[in-house]
Amino acid sequence: MVNSGNNEINMRILLVEDEQLVAEYLKLSLTSAGHEVDHAADGNTAYEKAILKGYDVIILDILLPGKNGVEVCKAVREYGVQTPILFLTSMEAEESRINGLDAGADDYLTKPFSFPELQARLRALYRRPQSIVNEHVIVGNIKISTTEHRAWLGDDEKDLRSKEFAVLAYLMRNKERAISRDELFRNIWGVSSENASNRVDVCVKELRRKFGKNCIKTISKTGYRIMQET
Ligand code: CA
Repeated sequence: MVNSGNNEINMRILLVEDEQLVAEYLKLSLTSAGHEVDHAADGNTAYEKAILKGYDVIILDILLPGKNGVEVCKAVREYGVQTPILFLTSMEAEESRINGLDAGADDYLTKPFSFPELQARLRALYRRPQSIVNEHVIVGNIKISTTEHRAWLGDDEKDLRSKEFAVLAYLMRNKERAISRDELFRNIWGVSSENASNRVDVCVKELRRKFGKNCIKTISKTGYRIMQET
């Protein structure tokens, strides 16, 4: 997410829509509004993208080839991804709305809709505080539960000391940028210290031993950055 300063929020959006014309129209409109849009035309691709890449919002059609939207939403939530999901559908029946919300969707918009309304819903979803109930953060093949303080590499759970977990979680939550040792130290240890760099480095070394040497990249003169593709 980039906040360009004029109250416009630029989001990274996964658009799941199988009707080509609708998908093209939405992609063009959302891109023109400053968002970054990734498109999936079927449910299986949507699921893979949703669990592997970090999006700010997912716009999800319900009637899709492969998994339908409700199944995609359920599967994505079961995997632990908490990205806000907006269902976009022409199914007006109350029942499908309830199914969608039960499956873990955050909002619902019925076709036909106006583009400004879609934008307003997306902004609202983006600003809504994320649920803190069993929150998972996923980057590449590393997954953490920030409420349970547990971490996995793929399906393999790793045993972490509390500072190691905090460093990993901080890097994962800020995956789009390099983080200085000083910033890590101030945010995790809460004070400044002469041997701050050393203590951060020791944590990173342990994390590399547990998650693979390429999981955290050293950025010269800056600090560290979590690797999204490992
Ligand atoms: Ca459809």
